[in-house]
Amino acid sequence: MVFETEKFTKIQNRYVQSMIAKPNIVKDIMHAVQRVVGQGQVSLHEPSFNGNELKYLKACLDTTFVSSVGRFVDQFENDLAEFTGAKHVISVVNGTSALHIALKLSGVKELDEVLVPSLTFVATANAVTYCNATPHFVEVEPLTFGIDAQKLRDYLIKNTKKISGKSVNVSTGRVIRAMVVMHTFGHPSDLESLIKIARDFDITLVEDAAEALGSFYKKRHVGTFGHFGVLSFNGNKTITTGAGGAILTNDEKLFREAKHITTTAKVPHRWEYCHDQVGYNYRMANINAALGCAQLEQLAENLSKKRSLYLKYFEAFKNVAGVKLISEPHECKSNYWLQTLLLDTGQAKFRDEILKATNDAGQMTRPSWQLMSELVQFLDCPRMDLDVSKALSRRLINIPSSSKLMDDNF
Ligand SMILES: *Cc1c(COP(=O)(O)O)cnc(C)c1O
Repeated sequence: MVFETEKFTKIQNRYVQSMIAKPNIVKDIMHAVQRVVGQGQVSLHEPSFNGNELKYLKACLDTTFVSSVGRFVDQFENDLAEFTGAKHVISVVNGTSALHIALKLSGVKELDEVLVPSLTFVATANAVTYCNATPHFVEVEPLTFGIDAQKLRDYLIKNTKKISGKSVNVSTGRVIRAMVVMHTFGHPSDLESLIKIARDFDITLVEDAAEALGSFYKKRHVGTFGHFGVLSFNGNKTITTGAGGAILTNDEKLFREAKHITTTAKVPHRWEYCHDQVGYNYRMANINAALGCAQLEQLAENLSKKRSLYLKYFEAFKNVAGVKLISEPHECKSNYWLQTLLLDTGQAKFRDEILKATNDAGQMTRPSWQLMSELVQFLDCPRMDLDVSKALSRRLINIPSSSKLMDDNF
């Protein structure tokens, strides 16, 4: 009996210890975040306006050209082309409209399917439905959180057949017209392999680089590999125009089409109003571009601050068990738009506790987006096996990432 009691006490002790050990990862992560950003209120991603913003906004007002034409729009587009190396840039009202036009001008139309990662922001999938096409959800891989090229190739081999040169989904009979490669949190996807797939299966590649201004794949800016690339300048992105986006392309003809269709398809004339197709009022306003010009001047400095912030987090997290800070992929340079923690599989069950503890303490942290494949409006859409996306979405946590966290006076 004594033996039994001792055994029981031992088991009980072990149980009590595990109860104490459990919240350690919660505290450890909270403290590591606080070592870097302090204990006050900190948002996930805030813009900073440290340059010529007011000067350019005032100059814009003085010209009275505040809407969709003006010198700031031209300058912003030129500066973006220079920074990204894209031959042509069309600035638009937001990243979502940029995606819509990129897909439309890639020939996406009714009854088509478009390959889209399930782990993405909702705009990627929404833009497909704006073209009356269907998103077809594909798996991501755990290093870049971008589309898993090997799994996608195997899947397409098994599930498509070529009809008149086009890859057709054998279960729906629909053409797979395009794929949207999304560079998650600013980390470049495996572009080389994905471009090969696009070529082999005759699928047009569009890059959703909304999160990735300042990210490079093998020294070339992301968003310049696809038929089109798309950027966003929403208030939470690396630089902001209030609301805004851009379409990048190296193709002169596509550039002209994109410019035309985003400008209500108006045929240029000194006084006539003639529109030669259904167009969109998607051009960026000059006043937003004025803000953008000032922001672009600070981009290089912002990017270097974001990199320093990553290094600080790296130091803070290197001895925290059960979690990994995400680093840029091999041969890539990431803009580190959102710093990301990946919990070990066994620690995923503490995610919500971690989110609660950090948000209660004032440090804003966020879980991954709900997978597109699980949103009610997309439940009927075709999909491949998404086990990795599902597991990752339960293990990801974004932590405060603003460049201003590296400002001296913070
Ligand atoms: C921000 C974002 C967009 C575009 O967003 P807008 O708010 O419309 O500028 C598109 N895709 C992804 C992945 C994004 O993060």
